[in-house]
Amino acid sequence: MSKKELVRNLEELEHVTGSLALDIWQHPQIAYEETYASAAQKSVLADAGFRITENIGGMQTAFYAEYGSGYPTIGILGEFDALPGLSQSSKPYKDPVSENGPGHACGHHLLGTAGVESVLGLKQLIDQGKVNGTIRYYGCPAEEVLSGKTFMAREGVFDDLDCCLTWHPGTSNVVQNYSTQAMISIKFRFHGVPAHAAGAPHAGRSALDAVEIMNIGANYLREHLVDGTRIHYSITNGGQAPNIVPDEAEVWYYLRGANRDQVEDMLMRMHDIAKGAALITGTSTSHELLANCYHMLTNDTMDTLNYRNMEDYPMESFTSDEVAYAAILRKSMDPKLIEASRRQLQLDSNDILPTKNFYNIAMKDTTMPGSTDVADVSWITPLASIGTTCGPIGTQVHAWQATAVFGTSIGLKGMHYAARIMALTAYDLLTEPAFVEQAKAEFIEATADKPYQVGLDETVLAPGTERKEQLI
Ligand SMILES: [Zn+2]
Repeated sequence: MSKKELVRNLEELEHVTGSLALDIWQHPQIAYEETYASAAQKSVLADAGFRITENIGGMQTAFYAEYGSGYPTIGILGEFDALPGLSQSSKPYKDPVSENGPGHACGHHLLGTAGVESVLGLKQLIDQGKVNGTIRYYGCPAEEVLSGKTFMAREGVFDDLDCCLTWHPGTSNVVQNYSTQAMISIKFRFHGVPAHAAGAPHAGRSALDAVEIMNIGANYLREHLVDGTRIHYSITNGGQAPNIVPDEAEVWYYLRGANRDQVEDMLMRMHDIAKGAALITGTSTSHELLANCYHMLTNDTMDTLNYRNMEDYPMESFTSDEVAYAAILRKSMDPKLIEASRRQLQLDSNDILPTKNFYNIAMKDTTMPGSTDVADVSWITPLASIGTTCGPIGTQVHAWQATAVFGTSIGLKGMHYAARIMALTAYDLLTEPAFVEQAKAEFIEATADKPYQVGLDETVLAPGTERKEQLI
């Protein structure tokens, strides 16, 4: 009975949270600069009577909002950062709002706001005495640079949770019972001696040479790495002009693997390569660690609850206008990618916006390429995540098509569905402590002898505070 009431509460909230999500979508801000979204969410939650704890770890956009009291404490994770260069209107063809401006191409305006909707719906049941316990929404900055939650974890804000829920916008309704890759983000800098590149090259020591030699070393390293690992880099400073021997150069690396041990082994090799490149070129090197996040730990108990709620409360179908919009948007996408997604989900070719629910048991313990700092939280408390249909099959996140569709009623429909499922699963956990204890027992078994260790020590600071470098 109360579950139906909860769904009704959520439906009544949809106009408020729909406007909130679109407001954030219209004011995209990149990692650690999400002041607009953070303030907007805090304001809605404070008005509803939530207790707000802000500026977590000195990060001005990080906060959590709590309601209720006592056992159990259920967390819902939200995000709100946009991506640089992916500005786009909601039109189904390329139409940037501001040239090279940021855009919500990963749908984090939906991700965070769904969590706000869930806790607002649950709050009403707490007020009516139908549910006991504590609910806590986390406004987490900077998922796109994979460190916001790691810094929050370092402050201990997830330590007293009994269970935690989250989701991500996608192109199907799916229980995310698979892992993500552990990842390290690190910048290597080289420091040389400037000189006239024609007049006195013998006097120069090129930092750019060192970057190039480091990249050659890294590319030779690939052959000797475990299958499935990834190394990608971008030269973020290569000097100013060809006639100046560059005295400063920088290369930014992401290292990814199936678990933390794999990426830390890769990192040791990369440090040796950097030292070698410096020795060869007569330069010196320093580095800056930016992120170090875990691989994801899943939880069968909570995945099962999520799936049961998805089956009991299916997503309503999309309107013919929404399907027509999606069909136009898909014209700009690679048909091979659409076909691959369609086959993976065994969908009919007409099923552009699927409302069916997927829970593939065989995916358990497989690793999806890509990483998220949500994984850090999964090593602190039992955590489960779902994906929902917020765009047509074939939509790639981190592309303009995603910014477009996530700013329409299609994106909002997926968001409201995610809010509903997270709230229903939180309801199960709040009203049936046996589920909480089962999820915890599973978590304790999976993490035995492997306690969470924060990957960024106190010398690494969130952007916005002064950074310290380690000279080798
Ligand atoms: Zn994302």
